Amino acid sequence: MKQCTKCGTTQKNSNTRCVNCDAVLGAPLTKEEEEALSYEISQNITELANTTDPFYVSPLRRTVGIISVAMIVLCALWFLIFNITGDNRDYILGALAAIIFFIVPAFELLCPETAWKLSRLGDTWKYGVELSPSDMWVSFSRGISYFFFGTGWLAVAFAVIRLLDYI
Ligand SMILES: [Zn+2]
Repeated sequence: MKQCTKCGTTQKNSNTRCVNCDAVLGAPLTKEEEEALSYEISQNITELANTTDPFYVSPLRRTVGIISVAMIVLCALWFLIFNITGDNRDYILGALAAIIFFIVPAFELLCPETAWKLSRLGDTWKYGVELSPSDMWVSFSRGISYFFFGTGWLAVAFAVIRLLDYI
């Protein structure tokens, strides 16, 4: 295998000029170079397949999802601590609202496939077929998740501000 130094196209050893840009080709690649190149190509293909997979959890979505889970735990603790003391104040409701808001990004971003299946449970039962989500559903689900992630933080800010008012 030969690789064009000008445009990067790979081609047969018998070629003397690049099929893509007509540059003069040098010596064929060594075995190591060929292996490195095919590894790089397979990585690119995997990445391409992942971005078209509607249920692929990207590092950003995983991070936002995990932060949401952590916030659910923290808000649940906040809720329990103040509830035990018997204070029925709005900063408890703020924490409760935050838990409900953070459930959406935690679930939709970390388990998109389960979220999709749950939302289509009725259809699968009715038509007996597994439908796959449209691009619009995927974008909508992610948009809603980020919206609720933001709203969750607003609820947390509200709870903290109200608590400081009472102290
Ligand atoms: Zn070329």
